[in-house]
Amino acid sequence: MAWGVGKGGAGAAVSEAVSPGGMQNALDPGTDLVKRGKPRRNMDVTIRQKILVVDDVPTSAAVLESMLRQEWDVMTAFDGDAALRLASEPPVPDLILLDINMPGIDGREVCRRLKKSPVTKDIPIIFVTAMDSGDSEAHGLGLGAVDYIVKPVNAPIVRARVRNHIALRKALVELQSLATLDPLTSLFNRRKLQECLALEVSRAECYARPLSVILFDVDHFKAVNDTHGHAAGDAALMETGRWLRASVRASDVPGRWGGEEFLVVCPETPLDEAMQIAERLRQEYADLRMAPESRLTASFGVASHRAGLRVDDLLRNADDALYRAKNAGRNRVEREL
Ligand SMILES: [Mg+2]
Repeated sequence: MAWGVGKGGAGAAVSEAVSPGGMQNALDPGTDLVKRGKPRRNMDVTIRQKILVVDDVPTSAAVLESMLRQEWDVMTAFDGDAALRLASEPPVPDLILLDINMPGIDGREVCRRLKKSPVTKDIPIIFVTAMDSGDSEAHGLGLGAVDYIVKPVNAPIVRARVRNHIALRKALVELQSLATLDPLTSLFNRRKLQECLALEVSRAECYARPLSVILFDVDHFKAVNDTHGHAAGDAALMETGRWLRASVRASDVPGRWGGEEFLVVCPETPLDEAMQIAERLRQEYADLRMAPESRLTASFGVASHRAGLRVDDLLRNADDALYRAKNAGRNRVEREL
């Protein structure tokens, strides 16, 4: 069964999709900005949230569906297997109403498995069950469900709880993006880059795979701020961020390291290849026209992972190379020694 198409009438108050992939969604508008030159108007499109109802008794599932379908897109699964399959197929549901007592894989086990998978672990789950003992409720919440509704269900209460949990989930996704994105450029911030780099270093170490980093710093950036003011400096950094996101390969991870310094993590990339990428970026950046300075340049340092090297060592090597690029006259690329 496929998701229904949203009708987006007056009843559809929600105008923005929130999903466990929300982090990526948060990045998309910026990418769009670069490619089309103007922002996409998300608010023009009403996307209805999707709810998966799981109950082994079709009439019970139908009752819930009838309570929810005016406001949300609803699909149903009648056993644990179908629930797990539908929950992991993109676009994943925004919320799951899950019956506990089912033959085969019961609701508790479905919940356990959904919480284990990176694809489905962030989907809010509300248990819906005839069991009304306190123990059962505590156990369900202990498995990671956000709420618990006892049958027979009451339509206004079901709708209110679903609405609340969808709103909470949306707020959480927004908080996550605040914690991981640089507000000025919408690139990953230093904290997220460090997290990403730690993961890539352990992957490179574990599987003996190549990994490089490119660190670059905008040349004479202080002069932009001093001459044209901080608003102009911020505009130049935003432009740099837009350009960088559009210029790196899909597998590279760009971010703002701090100030006018940017880092690109390049998984599966040996030093020589990273040098070529850095040289391409240097040329592109020097050719980029941006206000208020019609041109800016940047200096680049490139370093690669070697067995036993720690994240800090890798970053220090890139930083040393960047320092030498600055000393050698700027607008150039240097590799680690
Ligand atoms: Mg049941």
